[in-house]
Amino acid sequence: MPPRGRQLEVTIALGGNAILRRGDHGTAEEQIDRVRATARALVHLIEKGDRILLTHGNGPQVGDILVQNEAAKDQVPQMPLDVCGAQSQGMIGYMLQQALRGELDAEGIDMPVVTVLTQVLVDRGDPAFRNPTKPVGPFYSAQESSRLSKSKGWAMAEDSGRGYRRVVPSPVPKDIVEKGTVARLFRAGVLVIAAGGGGIPVVGGRGRLRGVEAVLDKDRTASLLATTMKTKVLLILTDVDGVYLDYAGPRRRKLDALDVKACERYLRAGQFPPGSMGPKIESAVSFLKAGGVRAVIASLEEAEAALAGRAGTTITR
Ligand code: ADP
Ligand code: MG
Repeated sequence: MPPRGRQLEVTIALGGNAILRRGDHGTAEEQIDRVRATARALVHLIEKGDRILLTHGNGPQVGDILVQNEAAKDQVPQMPLDVCGAQSQGMIGYMLQQALRGELDAEGIDMPVVTVLTQVLVDRGDPAFRNPTKPVGPFYSAQESSRLSKSKGWAMAEDSGRGYRRVVPSPVPKDIVEKGTVARLFRAGVLVIAAGGGGIPVVGGRGRLRGVEAVLDKDRTASLLATTMKTKVLLILTDVDGVYLDYAGPRRRKLDALDVKACERYLRAGQFPPGSMGPKIESAVSFLKAGGVRAVIASLEEAEAALAGRAGTTITR
């Protein structure tokens, strides 16, 4: 049986570094090693009595799958982005399940672990579909890039002097298709891994879902997941030890606590960039506005201290 204790219900969003570090090659062995360390930290929280609902990013993994698809396109059909997203959920879910099982068994905790392949509904009319901004997959030359935009209708954009990449829409996640499944498992005491990589974006109504060529922001979906499952806390674990002001400047300083108003003010002032800290703060704010009690942004290493309010940045209404 899971240990008793504070029984805090927490949605945890694992950042990219929980599975791969900057500078890693991305071999399976490396990722399994990283995930094992992550699992140790998570099981530590479970030992304290916290009830965890887990989600995670998939940037590097889905990127590698897209490169494989591109390189092998003359031998096997290329898979669309939604299918690649599903592949990455399965692959990361497998590694997490195995590592978590090992750590739970080592601690004598009899808790089932499962990955739910998760689709997330988006709105066909989302303005993101008219303005794709998120670079994915391999880099191409200018020539290849214009060929691809003609032959496949892909939107292409120059990516910081390194070449051209496909850019895809990043619409707002609206509803978690498998929310009933996740809720039943979570309430039954199962350790659920859900909505990996922000979930597989789909459109359409009941029984008529289909995947779309888009990606979802994992922090936004984590906020939706936490709201939908009504966990008290949203814990976003990343590779910095908290939220900073003037992060890139000489006088950066860490914030221990923030409220919604301060978040909104600093967002407007450009303190939190769109590709990294911005979506975390926005997600914390939307979680709190939807009834969440506490959002915490911290490093994986300090997860436990952060939940106790002794590390990271705690955001409240
Ligand atoms: P993840 O994979 O966890 O989503 P990101 O790279 O998207 O990681 O976001 C974390 C990064 O945000 C940090 O590594 C840091 O470089 C960057 N960052 C930008 N602005 C800030 C800020 N104001 N405070 C803290 N970190 C920031
Ligand atoms: Mg990120």
